Amino acid sequence: MTQRISHWIDGRRTPGTSGRTTPVYNPATGQHSAEVDLASGSEVDVAVTKATAAAKQWRHASLSQRSGVLFAFRQLLHERTDELAAIVTAEHGKVLSDAAGEIARGLENVEFAAGVPQMLKGGFSEQVSTGVDVYSIRQPLGVVAGITPFNFPVMVPLWMCANAIACGNAFILKPSEKDPSASLLLAQMWKDAGLPDGVFTVVQGDKEAVDALLTHPAVAAVSFVGSTPIARYIYETGTAQGKRVQALGGAKNHALVLPDADVEMAADAVVSAAYGSAGERCMALSVAVAVGGVGDRLVDALAARLPKLTVGDGTDPDTDIGPLITAEHRDKVAGYIGAGAQQGATLVVDGRAGDFPSGGFFLGTTLIDHVTPEMTVYTDEIFGPVLCVVRAETYEQGLALINDNPYANGTAIFTRDGGAARAFQFDVEVGMVGINVPVPVPVAYYSFGGWKASLFGDSHMYGAEGMNFYTRGKVVTSRWPDPATSTVDLGFPRTR
Ligand code: NAD
Repeated sequence: MTQRISHWIDGRRTPGTSGRTTPVYNPATGQHSAEVDLASGSEVDVAVTKATAAAKQWRHASLSQRSGVLFAFRQLLHERTDELAAIVTAEHGKVLSDAAGEIARGLENVEFAAGVPQMLKGGFSEQVSTGVDVYSIRQPLGVVAGITPFNFPVMVPLWMCANAIACGNAFILKPSEKDPSASLLLAQMWKDAGLPDGVFTVVQGDKEAVDALLTHPAVAAVSFVGSTPIARYIYETGTAQGKRVQALGGAKNHALVLPDADVEMAADAVVSAAYGSAGERCMALSVAVAVGGVGDRLVDALAARLPKLTVGDGTDPDTDIGPLITAEHRDKVAGYIGAGAQQGATLVVDGRAGDFPSGGFFLGTTLIDHVTPEMTVYTDEIFGPVLCVVRAETYEQGLALINDNPYANGTAIFTRDGGAARAFQFDVEVGMVGINVPVPVPVAYYSFGGWKASLFGDSHMYGAEGMNFYTRGKVVTSRWPDPATSTVDLGFPRTR
């Protein structure tokens, strides 16, 4: 019998009642491994109602109690990393070490959130007026929701829920329906860590569940990570409902390789960032901009590395690159490769040709040279193991190409010239920049977010911006006057 993946409401697994499900696959074998429930609007309403009641209690938990739950949750994540990684690999396809890496990066956010007593310290000003003090406090929003993509089924939920819960909110996760199981183990771990029932909820689902969360009056804020068209929709719909929304979208991340770069080192870095996790990372490098005379040397160095990468089942320790998420997505990526060749680019390595395990959604590594900005391999986010090389004559041309791109999530420069790197950091219009660092995902005590079509809303995710996003400020002005000095004064209050 096919396994059924259900919701997690009020501290327990809750079978769906909508009658709607969708299949979940093991992308390495193509096997239909489970059916996941798709919540109806009324099931979302039940989940929100339970979360609302839990939020009312949880905001009373002291900062040290909340911090204690986060420390316990961190310990469980460590203890159960292998189990969680196996679940991720079975539904996403990424290799086990990569799945463990995503858990480790997610864990950083739990560690950051455990420091919530420090993060929520307010300001205090004594004697702002005679006998009057002012102080600021930050309070939770109530019920907040997170809608997450398939490519990081553990890390991205942890970007959101660790801070949201630490700040005293109840958090509802709507994971990707393509790899939904990790969410339920996270829910069990929160419970085992001592989190009260209803503070962490999972509703499985598709657009219907998302729309129900976006329009539910008791949901105060929505965090979203996914593709740009859906991010825009989430932002517009959620804010029209008066909600606070941060919506992170897609990407087209460029590596700028200057003529003075160490080409072998740059090639190692670019290959790692382009093909790791089969290119299904929002911070994957998908375009290498080769400046001046470095182009041919770079392409040769990149091409030389690709035959050494093994594509296969992510559970096999010899595998470097797992399958893509679905057969449909694999075919879409393959279609871009064909279009690139048709539109005049040079296919240096064609990933469509390859001897892959049967049944799985595999695609080999592809390297396309002489790509120009109007080609669809350049204009579209491909989200697969495809690296494009664009030739630029000068640094200024390369920079202009990056700044003209509608996406602006991450970028990296490869050079040995500190001045050039400093100029790039100053001038590039992208949210996250690497200097000889190919995947510059900020650590948990900074914040993550792109610019332009890669982020809708004012707030980046996690770190201090995450703490602000999940709280609202209150400023208290206080005095303890001698009643004998009290008078009626209809003038606008002034400081004295
Ligand atoms: P997606 O946009 O298809 O789905 C993301 C979430 O939105 C899922 O939970 C999905 O169920 C839901 N959803 C899908 N269609 C919807 C609709 N019509 N209405 C309402 N909700 C809908 O993205 P994906 O394919 O799961 O993930 C890959 C994308 O995510 C890529 O574009 C990638 O760049 C992006 N991503 C961005 C970041 C970032 O930090 N900027 C991080 C990871 C992934």
